[in-house]
Amino acid sequence: MPACYIIRFADTGEETEWFGLRGYYYEFGDGSTLDLRPTMAWCVKCQDFVDAEWIASLQQIEDELVELRDPTSMRAEVFTSEEPPFDKPVFRERRKRLYAEAIDEAERRVQWRSDRLAPPKCLQCGSTNVEFQGDGNEMTVTGRGLVHVECTGMCSTDFLNWFFTPEGDRIPRETKPSYWHLPGEET
Ligand SMILES: [Zn+2]
Repeated sequence: MPACYIIRFADTGEETEWFGLRGYYYEFGDGSTLDLRPTMAWCVKCQDFVDAEWIASLQQIEDELVELRDPTSMRAEVFTSEEPPFDKPVFRERRKRLYAEAIDEAERRVQWRSDRLAPPKCLQCGSTNVEFQGDGNEMTVTGRGLVHVECTGMCSTDFLNWFFTPEGDRIPRETKPSYWHLPGEET
């Protein structure tokens, strides 16, 4: 779920709320897709806070896969726990399938990361001139100077349904945002 922030620019004292969006995907040559992980960043070209790609190191992504493959790990527990109500047979088959899918996705993420060449990009304009928040609540951004950035929680936003090449370039295509809903629920 995307994060929301309160952003305060030291130069003008202006304070704004910022909401992350979701529904960004990488699309591969065979038509398969992988969730793109966005994070808030300052885009020097846009002169604004934007969603940018978050690209973890190959080591981190491989570690995620190793952890997920261990059925007793925290990462796998959501699929493998037998605690009530998950001990019900009705859940068992579905969770087994979801677990297999999660492992498959993690394997594909390792493959994508191994092949990835370009640095992270702004998801609005495609620029690689993006600046990420480090530790702490303050960052200095090109063009505006010191900014106070504070994560205030998570927010539920619509899915953009934007598709990108594995190198993070937007695939031009007409898409409509959608809202997540429970299976069988009316939209
Ligand atoms: Zn940008």
